[in-house]
Amino acid sequence: MGTRKKVLVTGGAGFLGSHLCQRLLADGHDVLCVDNLFTGTKDNLEPLLGESHFELLRHDVTFPLYVEVDEIYNLACPASPVHYQFDPVQTTKTSVHGAINMLGLAKRTRAKILQASTSEVYGDPEVHPQTEDYRGSVNVLGPRACYDEGKRCAETLFFDYRRQHGLDIRVARIFNTYGPRMLPDDGRVVSNFVVQALRGEPLTVYGDGTQTRSFCYVDDLIDGLVRLMDADNSVTGPMNLGNPTEFTIRALADEVIRLTDCGSAIVARPLPEDDPLQRCPDITFARDTIGWEPLIALEEGLQRTIEYFRSVI
Ligand code: NAD
Ligand code: UDP
Ligand code: UDP
Repeated sequence: MGTRKKVLVTGGAGFLGSHLCQRLLADGHDVLCVDNLFTGTKDNLEPLLGESHFELLRHDVTFPLYVEVDEIYNLACPASPVHYQFDPVQTTKTSVHGAINMLGLAKRTRAKILQASTSEVYGDPEVHPQTEDYRGSVNVLGPRACYDEGKRCAETLFFDYRRQHGLDIRVARIFNTYGPRMLPDDGRVVSNFVVQALRGEPLTVYGDGTQTRSFCYVDDLIDGLVRLMDADNSVTGPMNLGNPTEFTIRALADEVIRLTDCGSAIVARPLPEDDPLQRCPDITFARDTIGWEPLIALEEGLQRTIEYFRSVI
């Protein structure tokens, strides 16, 4: 175990954030979780709430925050298309004003700061698999833009604060990640399919199901975030973090039906506007610089996720 640090996790009551808080506490740090509980819940933090080195502060990152910390993981932002499109203006504010406030905080405290960016900065990509130097293809005017452009602007702010104020920054571009503590009504594909299967309902495949995603199990992703934060300060990223094994959405549906043994049918639903047709990370940079790659295959990760949803629904 290294030195105990004071670590701020924004969005810490959410799916990824709660796992990250748990990991940081296990590593021996003091963790301050800041969350407005929009898509996060206290239930996600239930195992942590009694711990003396853990603190939950209900706060919206679009407003200034004055605390003393050594490291900041900036995860606050709804991640499911259903949730980030519910109040698109607030989504942009969360990414942009939230980044400015957390960067201002990092500047004052000289804290190291990591941004949870996303594969959505690549939009509907023409380069496949996506490498970090690909500049992306985002529809500025579409329904996903509040999220995609907000995250792109946050990346810009991170690099400007580095150039202008010498901040120690890290930018992780996270690809589709799944696992326990996703909300049952989250709207993302893995939780939707697993919950539908366990309820004996048909699985809703949007479009013809030939669009692809690459699914990373949460424990792998959290390990990548911590390694990136702990890397030498020359390693700013942006760094792709995700599982490089690609599946069609139809194949994912078939796998969930097989693993749950539910006998559910598949029903087609319209493909949402601007839904990316293909997505897969090139993780060469992460492998070479932080020695990271996912270890948990889809079948095992889905089994753990299915067990979790069996216990909550
Ligand atoms: P999530 O919705 O479960 O968690 C987001 C958390 O941020 C929630 O607890 C929510 O209440 C909180 N939040 C939202 N707006 C806030 C605000 N203004 N102030 C304070 N808290 C706020 O989503 P997640 O999957 O855990 O995603 C976490 C981060 O990782 C997000 O920034 C997301 O963009 C990024 N990311 C996730 C994935 C993925 O596949 N899970 C992929 C790419 C990027
Ligand atoms: N900020 C914050 N906590 C701090 C320091 C700053 O929330 O500990 C906010 C502050 O409200 C400001 C933003 O971060 O709006 C950016 O701060 P910075 O110092 O970069 O800019 P300035 O205050 O000069 O506009
Ligand atoms: N999707 C689907 N059925 C669902 C939910 C999602 O077919 O019930 C599809 C969606 O159209 C997209 C993929 O699954 O092509 C991943 O969607 P998700 O919302 O999980 O994440 P994102 O589109 O942001 O990668």
